[in-house]
Amino acid sequence: MTEVTPPATDGRRAPESPDISFEFFPPKTEEMEKSLWGTINRLAPLGPNFVSVTYGAGGSTRERTHSTIARILAETNLTPAAHLTCVNAPRGEIDDVVARYHEVGVRHIVALRGDPTTGIGTAYVAHPDGYQTSAELVASIRKRYPDMEVSVSAYPEKHPESPDFDADIDMLQAKVDAGASRAITQVFFDNDLYFRYLDRVRKRGIDIPVVPGIMPMHNFKQARGFVTRAGTTVPDWLAEKFEGLDDDPETRKLVAATVAAGQVQKLAKHGVDTFHFYTMNRADLVFAISHLLGIRPQGAQKAA
Ligand code: FAD
Repeated sequence: MTEVTPPATDGRRAPESPDISFEFFPPKTEEMEKSLWGTINRLAPLGPNFVSVTYGAGGSTRERTHSTIARILAETNLTPAAHLTCVNAPRGEIDDVVARYHEVGVRHIVALRGDPTTGIGTAYVAHPDGYQTSAELVASIRKRYPDMEVSVSAYPEKHPESPDFDADIDMLQAKVDAGASRAITQVFFDNDLYFRYLDRVRKRGIDIPVVPGIMPMHNFKQARGFVTRAGTTVPDWLAEKFEGLDDDPETRKLVAATVAAGQVQKLAKHGVDTFHFYTMNRADLVFAISHLLGIRPQGAQKAA
């Protein structure tokens, strides 16, 4: 069976239980902010390795991503990771964003190229004075801040723009050569895709952790649309499990938890010991799945 490089642990968790991280998106409204903080407070005691906050398409959430990250730093003991893309901005602007993060104490960036401003599926055009690739961004962050950890993306089904897996893994290799120390995968539902991809990556001699990105599908119909646009295959067996449940959110939730729990338990059985959860800012399913992985709350909130 494929060997998975064990992740670095931060000492907060017993070595035999899996390492987890959570992804959030920056809230748009006060109500969404309240809901996100309910989620963070519920999940924090599970002791994640880090929690990441996404960066909106085209840099649209720059300030909201920053303020969410800053609040996580101020109010919890969690380790935040800020997503950042190269889209639509000159290098100087991106460098300022990284400098601000470093100044407030952030030591982990998830560095991405980002999607074309003209929409997924159209040609990506880099800003003329911007970082031309994600690898350039990684190199710049690592050069200016050697104490900054940089994670990057990985695509078990290859990125839709990659002509083939070789080209796709060339890009991962370039990001690792530039200093990335962890890859987080795009969501996938067929574990074989992940293992086949991992085999290809390891055969290239890339040995950083390639952490599976797991998305519990709270709303199958909606999630199916956007994961498909991002290049993820939704297998027929998965669609069948949600058939007839469009108007039954309670049952959908139980099915979603069962499906995602099955996926992570199968990955764990084959030696995977690190998981990144796309939480969609909701705690319930991720909490239940973490519980099934043997993870129990441990009081990660900062003392008052
Ligand atoms: P890269 O890793 O730089 O490239 C991906 C692949 O595309 C490469 O393998 C390469 O082969 C191919 N490629 C790149 N450029 C070209 C080119 N010019 N011509 C041909 N092929 C090319 N998006 C956001 O906007 N905000 C986020 O916070 C965010 N977080 C993400 C987190 C994770 C873990 C993942 C997996 C994705 C995330 N995305 C996010 C989506 C991401 O921005 C898109 O998938 C984007 O299209 C590619 O960015 P990247 O850094 O993954 O690309």
